[in-house]
Amino acid sequence: MNTTLTFTGWDRPGITAQLLSALGEAIPVHDIEQLVVQGRLVLSVAVESVNVDVVSSLAADLGLAIDIRDECDDVVDRRSASALVVLMAHQLQASHVALIAEQIAGLGGNIERIVRTADYPVTAVEMTVSSVPASALKQALAPVSTRLSVDVAVQSATIIRQGARLVVMDVDSTLIQDEVIDLLAQEAGCQAAVAEVTERAMAGELDFEQSLRQRVSALQGTPVAAIESVRSRVRLTPGARTLCRVLNSLGYRLALVSGGFAEIVGPLAEELGVHRFRANTLEVADGRLTGRVVPPVVDRAGKARALREFAGEFGFALSRTVAIGDGANDLDMIEAAGLGIAFNAKPAVAAAADASVTAPYLDSVLYLLGISREQVEALS
Ligand SMILES: [Mg+2]
Repeated sequence: MNTTLTFTGWDRPGITAQLLSALGEAIPVHDIEQLVVQGRLVLSVAVESVNVDVVSSLAADLGLAIDIRDECDDVVDRRSASALVVLMAHQLQASHVALIAEQIAGLGGNIERIVRTADYPVTAVEMTVSSVPASALKQALAPVSTRLSVDVAVQSATIIRQGARLVVMDVDSTLIQDEVIDLLAQEAGCQAAVAEVTERAMAGELDFEQSLRQRVSALQGTPVAAIESVRSRVRLTPGARTLCRVLNSLGYRLALVSGGFAEIVGPLAEELGVHRFRANTLEVADGRLTGRVVPPVVDRAGKARALREFAGEFGFALSRTVAIGDGANDLDMIEAAGLGIAFNAKPAVAAAADASVTAPYLDSVLYLLGISREQVEALS
């Protein structure tokens, strides 16, 4: 019969060695778990036989409380995690955590562990939850997240977070703060025409390809030099460099997929150490834009196709892919990826994604991938 001993009290170096050696020689350990929180130790060890007097007197000498349970007692089994819930906010309040915890309890879930993974530029807290499926948690927590303005990302605990993955990112309003077509329209002096098409597309009158073709046709006759000046005006989203640098140093594969233009996306990929990109190509003749896009057009389906192709090329199962985007044409790749992340996205995209980030820093995505601020800093 196994006996589980749980020691609690102030931690100090050498305490585990003293307690374990007091158990005696050749005693098989069936389970062991130790945690130190703010200097307080919890050490739990399950062994086959134990001299209770010896162990109790040592615990007393060390100033530790001891709890002794035989297996036949009502021992709490170590529960396996069902979901990971990451909370992110500029200022995380006790009431936020309370409300989230209340929802989890309401669904019959239990919080097994809470760890703070980041304190800058946002506070990120990761909860390991058992006994409730991630899908149910996601549904219940989404409205709470909106109400509290706290990002709440729910992932299934079956997603393996160790090891490298493929991260595929949208460009306009995700990797960069701008919409390149609008910058091109400014250079070409046709903002009004482009804005009108954008409005019709947003009203659902045009699909992505129609709106792209119409907007590009407004650029007809623009000298190619305009592309060069747009390239110099593009502003990266805060945290974009950190995200790419950290993922690169961890051996991740990175790709950009964009309904925008290769002339802008290609140099960005190169600058950031991104391995692959797919985007549309502006047709040029005699040093001027013809107002046409070279087919085939990269649209919503094309972005998801690129994700699958890059995953195949690098040998990643789709479950090992991450897609990040903000717009309707990112929906297919967000749904196809193992982890779909909506970044400052339209509500429909946020609702379809596994996780939604509203903090304006792209590197906060790292905290959803299980990478802590301390690790980010260690890689700097
Ligand atoms: Mg976008």
